[in-house]
Amino acid sequence: MAAQQVRDGFVELYGTEPEGVWSAPGRVNLIGEHTDYNDGFVMPFALPHTAVAAVSRRTDGVLRLHSSDVEGSVVELRLDDLAPESDRNWTAYPAGVVWALREAGHPVTGADVHLASTVPAGAGLSSSAALEVVVALALNDLYDLGLQRWQLARLCQRAENVYVGAPTGIMDQTASACCEAGHALFLDTRDLSQKQIPFDLAAEGMVLLVVDTRVKHSHSEGEYGKRRAGCERGAALLGVDALRDIPYGELDAALERLGDDEEAVRLVRHIVTEDERVEKTVALLESGETRAIGSVLVAGHASLRDDFRISCPELDLVVDTALASGALGARMTGGGFGGSAIVLAEAADVEPLTKAVQEAFAAAEFTAPRVFEAVPSAGARRLV
Ligand code: ADP
Ligand code: MG
Repeated sequence: MAAQQVRDGFVELYGTEPEGVWSAPGRVNLIGEHTDYNDGFVMPFALPHTAVAAVSRRTDGVLRLHSSDVEGSVVELRLDDLAPESDRNWTAYPAGVVWALREAGHPVTGADVHLASTVPAGAGLSSSAALEVVVALALNDLYDLGLQRWQLARLCQRAENVYVGAPTGIMDQTASACCEAGHALFLDTRDLSQKQIPFDLAAEGMVLLVVDTRVKHSHSEGEYGKRRAGCERGAALLGVDALRDIPYGELDAALERLGDDEEAVRLVRHIVTEDERVEKTVALLESGETRAIGSVLVAGHASLRDDFRISCPELDLVVDTALASGALGARMTGGGFGGSAIVLAEAADVEPLTKAVQEAFAAAEFTAPRVFEAVPSAGARRLV
């Protein structure tokens, strides 16, 4: 999304120049699914798709919001009226950020915001975090709040959890705020320690495709909450703070202790093996064995499908078709029940593989998927 276009939109709406223009990306998670609310490991990277916001301060306690991607005129809110779960519209994301900043004691006195985003919404690529982070970064700069990236991510998570009312982990916001071009972000969600892992597939003749199944994951909130509660129950049964505290080497003993509690066994097994898969992926990438991460991705998909049970026919079809067409690896990514899958492939295989996936979807009478190449891109930044 061009900064100039968003700036022009701002001028047209509000009649003045914005004080600045910022961008924040969507993300795709390479590996580490549903581990973030278990204090575990994740490994997202930023997409070239971004939310771009033109923003100016106000001093009168008013927040004006507009998105060029949503029908309707400017939404005007009074900061004093902002209250958790009071807003079911898209404006809850940016308003939630302002609310969270003020709750934390930061002197934000109002803003005019106009934004546009190229991150597909509801595709599991974190359009919501892009929206939150772009507004948080803009206000951090304009009000000179001096917050670090990880602190902005925490505030954005609070906005989404408390203000919007979606019980998500910390991965999406941290990815949007902290990722770097050409790298995947190895993040420990317990203490937010991070390591940028070089991830330049083009240099090695490979491509990572995102296949958006176009199945909206909107019905997934209840299931997400159930998985989350199930993981907490598993941790309590095992006497640990979070499932992250079960070392991979002690998984069998832990499962034994859960006995015939089949649900707990499945959830615990997914989380503990998934953390191990993230660490394995990091080790493989750091030792230059990039192609070998393919089988780790495939194992991750099987675990999400069979143990965590959050896949769907469309996601399974992408993975099965891609693997049958020579992909190095593939798995669903994001929260599940729709959204997107990722496919790791040799560059030379991309065309036939894409065609095979499209044909398989047509044959199954599924909506045509959207396929694009995901190049690890920059995190949130000021553009103007
Ligand atoms: P995801 O983050 O996976 O894309 P979510 O359900 O968490 O899915 O967030 C999607 C929501 O974010 C949309 O329903 C909308 O409210 C908001 N949103 C995303 N992009 C935009 C945009 N460009 N303009 C306005 N709202 C947006
Ligand atoms: Mg989201």
